[in-house]
Amino acid sequence: MGDATTHDLLQTRLDAYMAKKGLRSTGQRRTIASAFFNGPSHITIEELLVRARQEDSRIGYATVYRTLKLFTECGIASEHNFGDGPTRFELADEGDDHHHDHLICLECRSIIEFHDETIETQQEKIAKRLGFEVTSHKHEIYGICANCQSARAKKKR
Ligand SMILES: [Zn+2]
Ligand SMILES: [Zn+2]
Repeated sequence: MGDATTHDLLQTRLDAYMAKKGLRSTGQRRTIASAFFNGPSHITIEELLVRARQEDSRIGYATVYRTLKLFTECGIASEHNFGDGPTRFELADEGDDHHHDHLICLECRSIIEFHDETIETQQEKIAKRLGFEVTSHKHEIYGICANCQSARAKKKR
């Protein structure tokens, strides 16, 4: 997810948020931010810790945890709990146009992203009809991915 321009935008937002909160941008926080921006989407705290430690071996779990919480608070990261898996983090979508939802495979835990204009429009309509103002939403669809289905089919033969 995201490109260099998006990263700049998120970094700027993070800097502004931290300045407002009177938080210092420490070297460790910057290392974690860069590992997060350049890492895979839907990353766990453990996975990000491994990546950040490749740059700075002194970084601890608690620092990564707190930094991700900070990212979520300032809106540059979204937090997901996909079923019984560990909490995962990804870069926040930039604006409504880029919003995406998730399909989660219960077998291999792979996560597939999708965007569907019909769903987006439909839920706005539903909310409007019920006099509800939408601030955010999540669709999580659980099941078996195409790869795991074909693996199953092969086993049966
Ligand atoms: Zn699968
Ligand atoms: Zn995602």
